[in-house]
Amino acid sequence: MTKFSELNLNPKVLKAIDEAGYESPTPIQEGAIPPALEGKDVLGIAQTGTGKTASFTLPMITLLARGRARARMPRSLVLCPTRELAAQVAENFDTYAKHVKLTKALLIGGVSFGEQDKLIDKGVDVLIATPGRLLDHFERGKLLLTGVQIMVVDEADRMLDMGFIPDIERIFSLTPFTRQTLFFSATMAPEIERITNTFLSAPTRIEVARQATTSENIEQSVVMFKGSRKDREASEKRKLLRALIDAEGEKCTNAIIFCNRKMDVDIVAKSLKKYGYDAAPIHGDLDQSQRTRTLDGFRDGTLRFLVASDVAARGLDVPSVSHVFNFDVPGHAEDYVHRIGRTGRAGRDGTAMMICVPRDEKNLDDIERLVQREIPRRDNPLKSEVKATKSDKDDAAPKTDTRSKPKKSDAAPKGAAGKAKAEQGGSPSRGRSSGGDKVVGMGDHLPSFIALSFEERRAG
Ligand code: AMP
Repeated sequence: MTKFSELNLNPKVLKAIDEAGYESPTPIQEGAIPPALEGKDVLGIAQTGTGKTASFTLPMITLLARGRARARMPRSLVLCPTRELAAQVAENFDTYAKHVKLTKALLIGGVSFGEQDKLIDKGVDVLIATPGRLLDHFERGKLLLTGVQIMVVDEADRMLDMGFIPDIERIFSLTPFTRQTLFFSATMAPEIERITNTFLSAPTRIEVARQATTSENIEQSVVMFKGSRKDREASEKRKLLRALIDAEGEKCTNAIIFCNRKMDVDIVAKSLKKYGYDAAPIHGDLDQSQRTRTLDGFRDGTLRFLVASDVAARGLDVPSVSHVFNFDVPGHAEDYVHRIGRTGRAGRDGTAMMICVPRDEKNLDDIERLVQREIPRRDNPLKSEVKATKSDKDDAAPKTDTRSKPKKSDAAPKGAAGKAKAEQGGSPSRGRSSGGDKVVGMGDHLPSFIALSFEERRAG
């Protein structure tokens, strides 16, 4: 096995790596660092979690350690699809460059131009940016890209999804032809292939296995679910989500809940909160300070449930996420791999559950084809609650207990006997619980009018 010390990295970078506790390079690092240090273009086909950030940051720091930046002319440029990823790259950069004197600026939306302008005016060695914000600065005449010696494109396939490819092409054309390019993508869509053929020069291609497809430490399952009526499907699905969370009890220390649409991210987060779960949304339409606050809370453990869109959560590195819930089956099979890869990190065990409605079955097939396994079916924990479907007006009756921290009483009893107990209202403190909207003390033969909400009763 190669050691970091054999890779020709700057000794100060090696010291920082050692302090970060890394013992040996990951495959993408082993493959990308040597050609990058030789000044070659690199095409890395790798996804987040493989150590790809260090695979471009470490050689960059080594190469840039010699020389100084000039005003308004950054020496290197890292393009990331989202603000969060850009911030994460910047954080990585600070870790690895802590013993080297280099300056950096982070250009992301939601942060005032003034501060960013000041840094750029002074001259920066490394500019980490999202494409839109970078072009805004460029168009305001504050930035020259003619001094860029190294350009990194991170998560190119995500850039493609987000419609950034024209921006990327424009930025490529604003940098010198002689620049070195380090280009990373989890997949090679034809459009990405075209870009790399156009802008990379004889790149060294390194492909590492998709990590999550082989990750045995993630327990995966899917619940097949059909709403009792079309207009009830959404609220019943949210109820099912709560039941799945409850059934995990203490095992679920924290979780990311993925929705396909931003609107649903908001609705699911709001609904969970209303039911006493400690949840907050994150997606691209929220302002930056709110996103940062939410992420910090999730990272430091003060927020238990992060409800997220793919883009916002892509590449987030929180080492100890116990559960991932796919509220929706993702439309791109690749996204399933990315989503569940948020749990089971750094050798820990993880659990990934998904809810599949009939119209998503084709997408489920695509996922199973991609991961080359059948995802085990999980029983719907609400299945036997026939009466509950009538009373389920989501968001109508929040529970009284708060879900900010897992409690012993939340743990669903396991096994068939335990299940029966849970369905009989095994946890008396809950009252009308999310686990079935049971009314305590009425036995199993609850008259159906009692299970109706006030509005339903009035409406007859
Ligand atoms: P990335 O794929 O860049 O998002 O990195 C995933 C995680 O792996 C980050 O938490 C890094 O700090 C960590 N990491 C990167 N390289 C190594 C390494 N050689 N050994 C151990 N951990 C690493």
